[in-house]
Amino acid sequence: MLVKIVSKNFDIKDSHKIEIAVKNGRYKSLDKIFELKPETLVDEVDKSGLRGKGGGGAPAGGKWKLMQGYEDRQKYLVVNADESEPGTFKDRQIMEYDPHLLIEGMIDTCYAIKATKAYIYIRGEYAFWHKRLNEAIDEAYKKGFLGKNIKGSDFSLDITVHRGAGAYICGEKSALLESLEGKRGHPRLKPHQKEPEWYFGEPTLVNNVETIASIPFIINEGFEAYRSYGTERSPGTMLFGMSGHVNNPGIYEAPYGTSMIEYIQKIGGGIPEGKKIKAIIPGGSSCTILRGDEIDDVTLDYESLKEHGSTLGTGGMIVMDEDVFIPDITKNLLEFYHHESCGQCTPCREGVGWSDRLLQKILSGNGTKKDIDTILDVADLMNGKTVCVFAPAVSAVLISHIKKFPDEFYSLVK
Ligand code: SF4
Repeated sequence: MLVKIVSKNFDIKDSHKIEIAVKNGRYKSLDKIFELKPETLVDEVDKSGLRGKGGGGAPAGGKWKLMQGYEDRQKYLVVNADESEPGTFKDRQIMEYDPHLLIEGMIDTCYAIKATKAYIYIRGEYAFWHKRLNEAIDEAYKKGFLGKNIKGSDFSLDITVHRGAGAYICGEKSALLESLEGKRGHPRLKPHQKEPEWYFGEPTLVNNVETIASIPFIINEGFEAYRSYGTERSPGTMLFGMSGHVNNPGIYEAPYGTSMIEYIQKIGGGIPEGKKIKAIIPGGSSCTILRGDEIDDVTLDYESLKEHGSTLGTGGMIVMDEDVFIPDITKNLLEFYHHESCGQCTPCREGVGWSDRLLQKILSGNGTKKDIDTILDVADLMNGKTVCVFAPAVSAVLISHIKKFPDEFYSLVK
């Protein structure tokens, strides 16, 4: 059930140090890439079916192809390490235990898309990981893996780590780029047609840490090897997280298509004291909640979660046992989202705070049935009418929690 592609070196002592990393296969793909045309690498990643692992699951190859055709421009790679979604703590494992895998993947990617400057935008609270990344980057420069004419090739690359200021919304890629440009982290309006992202007006690829860390395996072993794991439409593996009421919380790498319930029982060790599962939030707190009786045939891949009315998101599952009172969970999440709305769109700025206040009123015993109806109306007004997907995600949280656990909400009101 468990596979080690990205997590292969996690258990090796001092694997974050470059000597140990190189001894255990890091930077091996560099010997291969400079023999190949950049376009060949883009094709290889496209054929692997690799999907972005930061939440949306967009095919990486498609995004890489959008970077082609700007030959006279400065191109950039920006790695999204702004891991802030509650329930999600996988990218920091890569940055802690195998930062050289990320750097290697960045070199491969930049060579493929012809970028010579790259950034890692790391969550502000990740002070330890910020330091660790910078130490690893310094080591890579000293070894000649970064800087001018890497390993004697014509290719040069510089990497800069940028630490965010603690805003959740900067995990949204266009807000991240605004922030990196020195502006407020407000998401941008989406273009009508497919195009790259833009950093200071230049074509830019934004990919998540785990996505980039998957690249060296694809280059070293070939796209078929990657596709030999997972499902036809969700090939490969993912670092799935488990938190909440499980005996062995943590991060474990498994192929897409793994049974959710088997993963929780066998890898997570089941629920403490043999209690029942009441609910699961499958991939970070902004995913639609699933009841315990809805997960029997759920598999950990994009298609299965979609069929069951939710999303795979970041793969960070939050498991709740039978004793959890869902309105408490909803309130906890709404407080978080209320604090994190960037305030740019009225339905989000007003709607999230309004819902949070109504939940407070309901939980304190002063609510009415009409307040629950108002929350559902406000949630509807937040959906599809804003610049980014933050408000629709909060809307889905509210609606799914109330509709799937109505008795718990209505038990609180007159
Ligand atoms: Fe900001 Fe919310 Fe609008 Fe997104 S939906 S841009 S978080 S106000």
